[in-house]
Amino acid sequence: MVQSDLIIIGGGPGGYEIAAEVAAKGLSVTLIERDALGGTCLNRGCIPTKCLCASASAILTVADAARFGVEVSGYKADYSAAAARMAQVTGQLRDGIASLLSKVNVVHGEARLAPDHVVEVGAEQYTAPRIIIATGSAPAALNIPGAELAMTSDDFLRLTELPRRVAIIGGGVIGMEFASILAAFGTEVTVLEFMKEILPPFDPEVAKRLRMSLQKRGVVTKVGAAVTAIEKSGEELRVAYSGKKGEEAVECDAVIMAVGRKAVVPDGCDAAGIKLTQKGFIAVDDNYQTSAREIFAVGDVNGRCMLAHAAAAQARVVMGLMDGRSMLVPSAVFTAPECAMAGLTPAQCDAEGLRYKSAKAMFAANGKALAMGEGEGFVKVLYDARSGRIYGVHIIGPHAADLVAEATAVMDSGMSVNEVAHQIVHGHPTLSEVFAAACTAAVLED
Ligand code: NAD
Repeated sequence: MVQSDLIIIGGGPGGYEIAAEVAAKGLSVTLIERDALGGTCLNRGCIPTKCLCASASAILTVADAARFGVEVSGYKADYSAAAARMAQVTGQLRDGIASLLSKVNVVHGEARLAPDHVVEVGAEQYTAPRIIIATGSAPAALNIPGAELAMTSDDFLRLTELPRRVAIIGGGVIGMEFASILAAFGTEVTVLEFMKEILPPFDPEVAKRLRMSLQKRGVVTKVGAAVTAIEKSGEELRVAYSGKKGEEAVECDAVIMAVGRKAVVPDGCDAAGIKLTQKGFIAVDDNYQTSAREIFAVGDVNGRCMLAHAAAAQARVVMGLMDGRSMLVPSAVFTAPECAMAGLTPAQCDAEGLRYKSAKAMFAANGKALAMGEGEGFVKVLYDARSGRIYGVHIIGPHAADLVAEATAVMDSGMSVNEVAHQIVHGHPTLSEVFAAACTAAVLED
């Protein structure tokens, strides 16, 4: 039996970041991973897609080069080269994680939980007073006829050449990021979204603006479309859906299913006394402890917030390195243009009965954005009608995913729109001025 201070099952962001951090502080850590280090984020998620987003952005820049005074005499989008670059970047980062874990006992194999804080990998047994399960999630599929004909996001990221016409089922984060990438590479894209607007958890105004913007790049989006079946006819696929006009269908060469993700639960949870929720995620309390004492579950596997940085933060809460009570988790969609948010949406403010107001500033009035040729979008601030305290910030526009970091820090410190407008000096000319301008607009409105 191998004894350590901490066992972590899963080498994604929920597992490897905390493993490296606490091992550096002197704890003995065993990290068990059955596949490549880095988890979904590095191998099948955030990083590969961001590589493709960068390729897509390069295509859009070249296509528009004349506007910047650059004449390009001909170019070709080469997806196989973009896919090769993606593999090179992820490989480099995987090597980085391996060296980050130099003080961690990394075990390669499938972990199985057993009673009394024992974890088995093959014939070997490991034990520790504390165990963290960070086994992540896998793509979910609709239970419809022909579902097996669709690609998952994992399948899509293994392609080295792109189909000519793609239907994407689900206008969520994955669906819209893929739509944005595919459209840049010249693929005809139709997105079929069940809800009345894409990106259901985002501010509807941001979501609508993104839908309109992608429409200009040729992406067809059908909202209020419930997909009922996928059929094959010859080489072609046909996605049937029930939409605003009744029963309709989209013909295409490939279908991507992006309707959410399901938990990857390790074997033996039952024997270890770990209970699952009705949706099959590991049930946890507010400290991410499972129904078994000193066994915790962080990240996608607990279904609380399916974001890499949320998983890493939850693991820090478990190890007492972060206060989880008021954790504010920003989120972003890496489309062109980008979208990002932190804090509450208008619907959440309404549900909590908050008296709030909103103010907006446009990137079209920002010097840096216009100089970059990216004047589309806005920053919207939701704030308390009396105190001015900021409840939520919603951004669509250039570098939204980076800009939301300041908003998150400001909200975390409880600052008001007045304090942002009058106490923080924003550099000029920078995109960050748009957040300041939204806060100033709020102050002027009052
Ligand atoms: P999602 O939950 O974001 O979106 C799924 C979408 O599918 C929803 O809009 C839903 O209404 C729609 N849908 C469900 N049933 C449907 C049907 N029958 N017909 C048409 N549409 C239907 O899920 P996802 O996009 O698969 O992403 C999975 C998880 O991964 C999410 O939690 C997401 O936050 C995370 N993720 C995050 C990022 C990022 O932060 N940039 C990127 C990728 C994935």
